[in-house]
Amino acid sequence: MFLWDKIAFGPIQSRRLGNSLGINVSPTTKKICSFDCIYCECGWTLEKNIDPRDFYSVEEIAEAIEKKLQECRENHTAIDSITFSGNGEPTLHPNFCQIIDNLIVLRNNYYPQTAITCLSNATQLANKQVFSVLQKIENPVLKLDTVSEPLFQLINKPTIDISVNEIIKHLQKLKGNFILQSLFMKGTIDNQAFNNAEEPHLSLWIDMVQKQSPKQVMLYSLDRSTPAPGLEKISTEELQKIAVRLQQFRIQAKVY
Ligand code: SF4
Repeated sequence: MFLWDKIAFGPIQSRRLGNSLGINVSPTTKKICSFDCIYCECGWTLEKNIDPRDFYSVEEIAEAIEKKLQECRENHTAIDSITFSGNGEPTLHPNFCQIIDNLIVLRNNYYPQTAITCLSNATQLANKQVFSVLQKIENPVLKLDTVSEPLFQLINKPTIDISVNEIIKHLQKLKGNFILQSLFMKGTIDNQAFNNAEEPHLSLWIDMVQKQSPKQVMLYSLDRSTPAPGLEKISTEELQKIAVRLQQFRIQAKVY
């Protein structure tokens, strides 16, 4: 499995975000996350207890980002998005809000036209500061792969005490001011066959999306190797059909 070995990396060409400069606020030696998704590119979440001392400091992060932005500007490198997407869930950083505030200042100075994106699993929306700081950035991209609690436990395996309904309740408070990302796949886990793109899960998920009315929905399937064996992709054609169902409700949906 893959871990980023730097705080600031890239830019890399992203299917979803264009030329994306990555920001990793988690350690480079292990993943820190409140989920243990069966498809996570970083591998399993080996440590379930989150120790705030494991994260990079706010100062180290700001310094690494500024150095990277300086380098990119000197080399005339185009950056479409500065993206939190490292070794785990960025909003678990104890000073996540300060990191965002610092990044906004740096972005305005070096790349004022560039969007800030945060790929998040939405488990920290109950934290008022995280909730409000996510609204300061252009692209809060929040994950919800299913609205079924048993499937949520099977696919995302939360390592903290949280239910899918709690996440939905907090998403609702964003009043559609977010981008939804959902990954569809099928397979067998713990002797249980599942497919989050089939009924009744799909219609319930579409119903939720309609109610949330996000700015955009990013639909995708597996792209790299997964820690859980035997998982299978959902075809692009099937994902396109899901996108069309959402578009019928005037929801902007795109397959990646
Ligand atoms: S939320 Fe993201 S980082 Fe966390 S386990 Fe799932 S895929 Fe990995």
